[in-house]
Amino acid sequence: MENIQADLALHITALLLSLTCLVFTLIQKRTDRYQNVAYMVLLVIVIINSCTEAILDLVGRDIQVDDTAFLVARICSYLYFIIHTVLAPGFFYYELCVTGLIRKVKDKRFLLYMAFFIFMEILAISQPFTSWVFYYDEARVFHRGWAEVVIYVISALYIAVSVISLIRTWRAITSRKKLSIAYFLTIVIAGILIQMFIPSLKAELFAESLAMLGLMLTVESEDDSINPDTGIYNRKALMMDLNNYRGLGIPVTAVFVKVTDLDMMLKRTGSTNTDGFTEIMSLFLRTLVPRNYIYSTSPGQFVILVNEKHKDGDRKFMEKLLSRLEIKMPAEEVVNRVINRFDAEWLVGRSEILLDATVAIARMPEELSDASDILYIADSSVPRSLSGRLLKGEDLSFALRRMEVEKALIRGLREDEFEVYYQPTFYTEDFKLYGAEALLRLKDSVIGNVPPDEFIPVAEQMGLIDEISEFVLRDVCKFLASGVPQKFGMESINVNLSVLQCLKKDFAEKIKELVKSYKLSEDLVNFEITESVEPDDYEILSKVMGDLKKAGFHFSMDDYGTGYSNMQSSFSLDFDIVKIDKSILWAAEKNEFGRIVLENSINMIRKMDRKIVVEGVETKEQIEMLKKLKVEYLQGYYFSKPVPKDELIEILKN
Ligand code: C2E
Ligand code: CA
Ligand code: CA
Repeated sequence: MENIQADLALHITALLLSLTCLVFTLIQKRTDRYQNVAYMVLLVIVIINSCTEAILDLVGRDIQVDDTAFLVARICSYLYFIIHTVLAPGFFYYELCVTGLIRKVKDKRFLLYMAFFIFMEILAISQPFTSWVFYYDEARVFHRGWAEVVIYVISALYIAVSVISLIRTWRAITSRKKLSIAYFLTIVIAGILIQMFIPSLKAELFAESLAMLGLMLTVESEDDSINPDTGIYNRKALMMDLNNYRGLGIPVTAVFVKVTDLDMMLKRTGSTNTDGFTEIMSLFLRTLVPRNYIYSTSPGQFVILVNEKHKDGDRKFMEKLLSRLEIKMPAEEVVNRVINRFDAEWLVGRSEILLDATVAIARMPEELSDASDILYIADSSVPRSLSGRLLKGEDLSFALRRMEVEKALIRGLREDEFEVYYQPTFYTEDFKLYGAEALLRLKDSVIGNVPPDEFIPVAEQMGLIDEISEFVLRDVCKFLASGVPQKFGMESINVNLSVLQCLKKDFAEKIKELVKSYKLSEDLVNFEITESVEPDDYEILSKVMGDLKKAGFHFSMDDYGTGYSNMQSSFSLDFDIVKIDKSILWAAEKNEFGRIVLENSINMIRKMDRKIVVEGVETKEQIEMLKKLKVEYLQGYYFSKPVPKDELIEILKN
């Protein structure tokens, strides 16, 4: 009697627990993935089983005397077995969803799993005619039949396969998921063992409902993968899912959508954050793909993951089975729809506005090798030349190469992969040595030599330019402090500066201190600044230059003639030397117009009382031409390429 009450209490508790889980799952509306559906199926199994067990507890003691009770008991036992038989295969299916293996299982395999399940169900369903699963003797005492043992053995096999799958995907899923599943499996295994060996102990369903609650709180919970303000999957979720795909070797296509004029949108709509727009955008995206394939990595940036259809015909059945919750549209179609949508206005707040977006498409693993590549593309700003159109294939190499360069810069600073080369300059008159220009080289251990034209702009954007420039200036100072350049008659060494760093606070002070610490005369250093300066910056730059010139440093205007700037303003800066860009020299050889440009540039600069260097001198003919034009200094491959210090000394000795 007491025992029956205890059993009843346990079964009702199990019922309440699993019912609670079901209600909360429904309230949270997490019902749109296979995983959720499978989870709810498991809950329903526990719920129905708890009901039938509770009824059995109630009528159990009357079956010997009451025919109705006996009938109810037989119906309940029957239902119990039909439903409970689904639990192990159901859990196995759930686990396939959680681990992502569901996207890989081949038809043959899956049909084999199904066959075992169907076999069990046939045993259970045929019970009224066969009494294979259980039977009552004349005294109406319950006995197990052989089929029940078979059902338990097959269930145990399902659990064993689940354990193996969990181990196989151990690296491809998050630790939270694997621990929860491992815990669930332990409980279910314990439940099966207890049921097999101690049938009188009725704790199995209670234990299972507890484990289901655990799954709800961990695996089914999306709190940390969803942005609470917008309900969209976040960066962390994207990372997790991508790692899962990669871990299992499942190909996936990422569609990137970047809204380029968010600032304008905020201004026009008077809002202070982009949440409203994110919601509008996600509503639109959900018309194309289910919710769980949409991620927002930061305001205005969306990533949609589209599964590749398997090319081998081995998954027809699985694909059909999964198709209801899958993306039906190919990635290209998603892209087209997105692009078309941006031709029309968006209703944000009360304003209808047109927005610009750059859309990109890339495949993993063919084009992007891992999750961080995809996040990199999502995060990197699109070059202006590529903005506002569909980017694919080669277009994306900008981001990948840039990522490589960024890594190389960081490695370079840490592992000392930078080296300063020197390219000598000469007097045009008599080819006497005049000076040298310091040019930085990056020899990376992973991606090889990176040209400065490529890494300097990246270093500027990463905020590493100060550190890199200091490295160059120190190298130059050490070289000068050795006295060797002076011995060969060098009057100064040129150091390239980025305008960006000149505008920083205390720049002039730092330079002066650094050079002073080597006890050098300031006029041995000549700074080259390119003429392309933003108009707003002239005032500050002119102050900084004035300050440094007073201390004795010299300045050269670099790349004259590449022409981005206001000539009048750039000549208002107090440069000692103007370096005419190699493109002007080379154009002068090609045609009459080029020659006119070179000649007149030289005349103009001379009238402004500045000395002239022409760079890019490669041939005797060029030298003859420049001699006639009375250019002061020459620099170029004709004399020497930029070379390491030691090599330069060798060249100068000869
Ligand atoms: P730049 O300041 O205009 O430097 C001259 C470039 O022309 C150098 O390229 C040099 O190797 C190349 N050059 C010189 N003579 C000839 C020639 O006869 N023929 C040809 N074809 N090329 C010649 P490099 O070393 O690749 O440097 C490229 C640019 O990178 C530099 O252009 C400069 O803007 C930047 N850079 C290099 N080192 C530094 C540095 O330490 N700091 C900063 N801020 N920029 C640097
Ligand atoms: Ca230069
Ligand atoms: Ca130059």
